Amino acid sequence: MTHQQLKTSVIIIGAGPAGAGTSFFLTKYGIPHIVIEKDTFPRDKVCGDGCSGKTALVIKRANPEWLDEILADEQSFLPSWGITFSAPNGKPLHVPFAPNRTPEMKAPGFTSARMVFDNFLFGKMASPQCTVYQNASVTSIDTNINGVVVEMVHNNTQYMVSAPIIIGADGDKSMVRKKFLPENTAPKTSAVGLRAYYEGITGMHEEQFIELHFLKEMLPGYFWIFPLPNGMANVGVGILSERIRTKKINLREQMLGIIKNNPIIAPRFANAKLVGKLDGWGLPLAMSRQPLSGINFMLTGDAACLIDPFSGEGIGNALYSGMLAAAAIKEAAEKNDYSAAFLKQSYDDVVYKRLGGEFKISSTLQRLCNYPWLFNFVVNKAYKSPSLRNTISCMFADMDMRDQLRKPSFYLKILFNK
Ligand SMILES: Cc1cc2nc3c(=O)[nH]c(=O)nc-3n(C[C@H](O)[C@H](O)[C@H](O)COP(=O)(O)OP(=O)(O)OC[C@H]3O[C@@H](n4cnc5c(N)ncnc54)[C@H](O)[C@@H]3O)c2cc1C
Repeated sequence: MTHQQLKTSVIIIGAGPAGAGTSFFLTKYGIPHIVIEKDTFPRDKVCGDGCSGKTALVIKRANPEWLDEILADEQSFLPSWGITFSAPNGKPLHVPFAPNRTPEMKAPGFTSARMVFDNFLFGKMASPQCTVYQNASVTSIDTNINGVVVEMVHNNTQYMVSAPIIIGADGDKSMVRKKFLPENTAPKTSAVGLRAYYEGITGMHEEQFIELHFLKEMLPGYFWIFPLPNGMANVGVGILSERIRTKKINLREQMLGIIKNNPIIAPRFANAKLVGKLDGWGLPLAMSRQPLSGINFMLTGDAACLIDPFSGEGIGNALYSGMLAAAAIKEAAEKNDYSAAFLKQSYDDVVYKRLGGEFKISSTLQRLCNYPWLFNFVVNKAYKSPSLRNTISCMFADMDMRDQLRKPSFYLKILFNK
């Protein structure tokens, strides 16, 4: 084995959405960085494959042409125009993302198999500032007075890579998180999900809305069907880990049971074919504020536990936190200050200022899902009231409106039809 020493400004561990997001904006700022990835792209990631408006927003900020490329390629990226919530009583509520849609409007979000989407992002990292080592194995992470030293093996060469700062973009089982926040590695609020690909499911919404089915047995989690390009669909279940433990749930049996026996779901799968197998993975939810940085390190995406506690959306937050991490690194480099206090102020505080409000609302919504009657009540009312449906539509884009869901006055207004 040969040995080599490398010096750079930033080391990023992981080339998923969080790592790619960080890299895009470091490149924009002209900051050289090395990305170390254990897999080889294209690689799969267990996910629902739903990409929201936040994902589109960050991609557009990185380069508007990339978003145009995505929205023009419906063989790989299916435009998303809305969502169907199915209440515990089985009633569906179809909520368009853009209630006043015009022909020239572009879809606010899209779905795409992660094998395809992550590979798209991976390809876009190529730049003179970015050096990627994939199929690389990190053997140790250490700190010294100059910052961080990562030892990795790649193509039979052992590298010692040093930089003033390291970014943990290495997902749910983050080794960077374990190294720097050992006392805080396993958040109790995590959820788990199972995902499978099917073809031939019937009864999709005519505009291919993504579907969340809040079945009684899954609350506060849900069963989903997300249409994908080429007649495929991503089907899965997500549930709190604590619920699995306390109720001794076999998630695989539960998911297959729903597909086989649920009176609303099963008929739609009568001629559907499973493509591949069921796969599971963890969802580190943003249920409470956690440290995201410290001296010489920052965590992004799942490594930072930034998944929305209600929707399970994590791709957008991974990209978004990467974008904010890059901005914080730019400031840190300018001031040559990689201290814990500086990074907390320029990264943690900014992340929670921008996303903390959403997380609070979503945590409350997740708890409200423990009350199926409340869910049924809102959906029943919305079924009859176009103005309430419109209000719910607007909640997707407007956080102040979404915050109404946390207030008893919202439900009282619905009750009295005001
Ligand atoms: C069942 C399920 C359904 C979901 N559905 C959705 C959805 O529909 N929409 C949505 O927005 N979000 C969804 N999520 C969440 C979403 O998948 C994650 O939030 C998102 O992938 C986080 O991106 P990331 O870059 O932080 O981590 P990841 O996507 O996990 O990427 C981490 C990268 O780091 C690499 N890595 C890991 N360890 C190392 C190491 N030691 N050395 C080098 N590289 C390493 C990995 O190979 C990987 O490439 C779902 C999650 C699950 C589990």
